[in-house]
Amino acid sequence: MIHELPELPYALNELEPSISQKTLEFHYGKHHQAYVTNLNNLIKGTAFEKAGLEEIVRHSEGGIFNNGAQVYNHTFYFMALSPKGGGEPKGALASAIAETFGSFAAFKEEFSNAGATLFGSGWVWLVADSHNKLRIMKKNNAGNPITDGMTPILTMDVWEHAYYLDTQNARPKYIENFWNLVNWKVIEKRYDEL
Ligand code: MN
Repeated sequence: MIHELPELPYALNELEPSISQKTLEFHYGKHHQAYVTNLNNLIKGTAFEKAGLEEIVRHSEGGIFNNGAQVYNHTFYFMALSPKGGGEPKGALASAIAETFGSFAAFKEEFSNAGATLFGSGWVWLVADSHNKLRIMKKNNAGNPITDGMTPILTMDVWEHAYYLDTQNARPKYIENFWNLVNWKVIEKRYDEL
């Protein structure tokens, strides 16, 4: 199948001041687009030519995995941001977070700390295991928790290209801004559909 850059549910300037239009022009318009283009070129004539994105993430390796997982990861990340985001989750997800981490504040601190301490490029994930129990995972480079048998619920990109134009070396400042944008309605729906 031909993979496509998803349309975002917000304009490129609407996440300001937490994430600038300039960052989205590069991060979504250039980086995310490049992963899509590379993936479409790489799968031609291979066993993955007709595969869906999740199958590619699950079974491929090398360049096809790197680009396919980056398409998946970026779409998962961008689709869960909103100019009206922030605050705290409600419902079943809120209860599960409180049960697993003690409180939303404790979860937020642990997730933020995972992002701040991830060495190099990668992604922080809130995932559910096969018993629907929540946990936080750090994955390097294009890593995706599907390959560990986990179901992704929330992700945060901590590659430098996600924040360098806005906060330069200050990754913790980007992480602080990220929480202003998390669209908990999308995240709650992912959890409810487990
Ligand atoms: Mn990125």
